[in-house]
Amino acid sequence: MSESRTGPVIFAAGTLMPISSPPLRDGALLVREGRIEAVGDLTDIGRENPEAEVRFFPNYTIIPGAINAHAHLGFRRKDAPEGGTFSDWLRTLIERLPEKEAWTAEAARDCAREAIVAGTTYMAESSPYGECLPQLAESGMAGVVYAEFFPHEIGTPEEAVEFIVAKVRELREGLPERVDAQVSVHSPYTVDPESSRLAAHRTRELGWKLAIHLSESPEEVEFVKHGTGGLADIFGTNDWGGMDVSPVRYAQDVELLAPETIAAHLATGVSEEDIDVLAQTGVAAVLCPRSNYFLGCGVSPLPGLIARGIRVGMGTDGLWSSPSMNLFEETLFAMRLYGLSAAAGLELATLGGAQALGIESGTGTLEVGKWADLAVVETSQEDGDPERSALEAAAGGGVAATVVGGDMIYNRLGT
Ligand SMILES: [Zn+2]
Repeated sequence: MSESRTGPVIFAAGTLMPISSPPLRDGALLVREGRIEAVGDLTDIGRENPEAEVRFFPNYTIIPGAINAHAHLGFRRKDAPEGGTFSDWLRTLIERLPEKEAWTAEAARDCAREAIVAGTTYMAESSPYGECLPQLAESGMAGVVYAEFFPHEIGTPEEAVEFIVAKVRELREGLPERVDAQVSVHSPYTVDPESSRLAAHRTRELGWKLAIHLSESPEEVEFVKHGTGGLADIFGTNDWGGMDVSPVRYAQDVELLAPETIAAHLATGVSEEDIDVLAQTGVAAVLCPRSNYFLGCGVSPLPGLIARGIRVGMGTDGLWSSPSMNLFEETLFAMRLYGLSAAAGLELATLGGAQALGIESGTGTLEVGKWADLAVVETSQEDGDPERSALEAAAGGGVAATVVGGDMIYNRLGT
């Protein structure tokens, strides 16, 4: 359970890895009112702040907490639909929505807990009409729930967009300080072009963010381009496909792409020309390589995205298409897939996610002025590659404590 902050606390470890600066031996953070006030050597910070309570983890590494930039909380591991094609999987998912209602809240609590135990301090969750917001809000993590809306269930595009804007305003009432709600345009095959365009305009006018699933599967590419394939008739009403362009081009045409937009997946059919569009519009990308692998989707062009300066974060997606809510495990998978260094991987999992979500002024690294959002990870202190050692440990169950805004929301050491 979380321990509320009182006076100043020093969090220190054998290795402190701020990400924004080189690792420190016996490094410490002075935390006051949830925020980092100083970063440095434990001896110096301890001497200058004798009144502070000290939490020193000598055989551990402190890293910024994971930023899970695209997740779904409302699924459970034990009865996931089979893999196979994306549209078969989605069809099964939709068929099972009524039975799922009975356990969605419980699944959301369990998934949030699993993420916290794996060192996650911030989660961007997407769920229908924001249904998993209560569980995210009570979890202790900071985060945002993107409320998906399905216009065919509501009415005209105008009515659908006004409905979801009003819903998000309602969801925002009474939330903890660092939990928020925003809108999601679910995908090019579930939200019609006019509702997509209106939602993009309306949210930008309000200064809100917008999350979308984009260019995820071969069937999505086929639907947008030719209007055929497994997604063409899945809801019986989505007849707007066949526009002879890629999903990225389509999203640009309906004005979904902007710096406020976070596009998840980008796994199938993303061309060099599409990457140009993504770079020019300033949209952020979130990659979910394990979910893409499970559903036979492609591989996101990560090197091309990074080379063009596109902000990239990592997401686990949900347990019906992904093996765990552990963002560090997701990142390790990406490192192997793309041959990335551990330092690059650790940055993607933390600062990269924060930049993609536009929250890097408050979290993502351990720097003065940011929230004390961190994970305490059990590592060998003699390792030659401290970033790899920290990432592998965090991916493999080695997180001993998770701290959000200075509060220990998980602590298996009991110290
Ligand atoms: Zn998703």
